[in-house]
Amino acid sequence: MDFELVSVGTELLLGQIVNTNARFLSRELSELGFNVFYTTVVGDNPERLKSALRIAAMRADAVITTGGLGPTADDLTKETIAEFCGLRCVMDEKSKRRIEERFQSHGLYMPKSNLKQAEMPEGCIILENNNGTAPGAIVEGKVDGKETTFIMLPGPPSEMKPMFLQGVKPYLEAKADCVIHSKSLRVFGVGESAAEEKLRNIIDRQTNPTIAPYAKTGEVELRLTAKANSVKEAKEMLRPLEQEVRNILNDYIYAVGADASMEETVVSLLKDKGMKLATAESCTGGLIAQKITRIPGASACFDCGAVTYSNAQKTKTLGVREETLRTYGAVSYQTAEEMAEGIRLASGADVGISVTGIAGPDGGTEKKPVGTVYIGIATKEKIWAYHFYLSGNRTVVRERASLYALDLVRRELLGCLEKDTNYIW
Ligand code: ATP
Ligand code: MG
Repeated sequence: MDFELVSVGTELLLGQIVNTNARFLSRELSELGFNVFYTTVVGDNPERLKSALRIAAMRADAVITTGGLGPTADDLTKETIAEFCGLRCVMDEKSKRRIEERFQSHGLYMPKSNLKQAEMPEGCIILENNNGTAPGAIVEGKVDGKETTFIMLPGPPSEMKPMFLQGVKPYLEAKADCVIHSKSLRVFGVGESAAEEKLRNIIDRQTNPTIAPYAKTGEVELRLTAKANSVKEAKEMLRPLEQEVRNILNDYIYAVGADASMEETVVSLLKDKGMKLATAESCTGGLIAQKITRIPGASACFDCGAVTYSNAQKTKTLGVREETLRTYGAVSYQTAEEMAEGIRLASGADVGISVTGIAGPDGGTEKKPVGTVYIGIATKEKIWAYHFYLSGNRTVVRERASLYALDLVRRELLGCLEKDTNYIW
């Protein structure tokens, strides 16, 4: 089954919102093993909407629309599709009651126009909306003699996603002749091309399962995908492939899952070990602390982070010696070490981590160009510091620096931190 997505909304064309619905749906459909050959964006304009839908109906087996199911006059997706398929829109009593109840339970007056949302193309499959008013619909119709399935979803992602997962996915799964199952391995500290080189043998001989690297800021996601008759079978096919990849990349794999994050891994390791982390940040300005505290339950393993931007505060708060700052500078191995040890002692944490660097665009010198970052780590047993030269603009340098810092903590907790742990390989 070949799909086309039609995202309806003038806001999308004006760049006021990002088309995250298309991203979500493309990903879901590819995991179900369906092709998406076109994605169209069209404004709330009746003529152009009709033309976009007609083109989509001609070249795809199924069209998924998002948006334009609202109560206002410019919400025309449903009406247009019904007209194409020669179907009338009739009031669906159940949907009508749901909409009325929704307004009542929120203590709101319901404008008459809202009832338009309960008028559904005759014979369609109605998709309940548990998070908003507009129901969705599936119409197995014919446009100019060609069979086309239209799946209409609301625009707000908070309504569209659950409706897809609860109502559309089971419908599509029943149509698919196989399952596509993926597993993501998250790799940090190895560039995309380096990872590809390491995995060359596996990549070259792949058919099913497959392996594909995707580059992200400072990391690579490896997506392992198998096509099989059942999820269970697909999982079994992925197991030996995963093992093979792990044998090659071992410590560089920090998590499993497309939505996994470095900070989640670090927090869960700290919790497992009953250990606490403290942060002393200069150029990252609290980004590491922000990442850690983003994770629910971080309070069990994090109780203190300092942002010491000026030299004076590095001395006052962390006890970095003035002589160190004078001799080596604020951006140096020595300062990073004293910052990490300083915050560890001040907080009583088990691990202190520090970052000091030049995020740019100004402040670089010939010896210490923009992107120069030192990261210190201190425990009872050791005080080590690492030098990085990170590429990218200010935002990217700060993001990368915080990820490297977290990765050093992760390695320390796993017992695989080396004094010369090297990420460039
Ligand atoms: P409503 O009942 O809210 O009018 P609707 O189904 O008519 O719903 P739209 O009016 O097209 O949907 O969009 C409603 C909101 O949903 C938009 O303001 C926007 O915030 C969000 N939205 C719409 N389309 C997309 C999209 N493709 N990606 C991300 N967000 C979207
Ligand atoms: Mg609308």
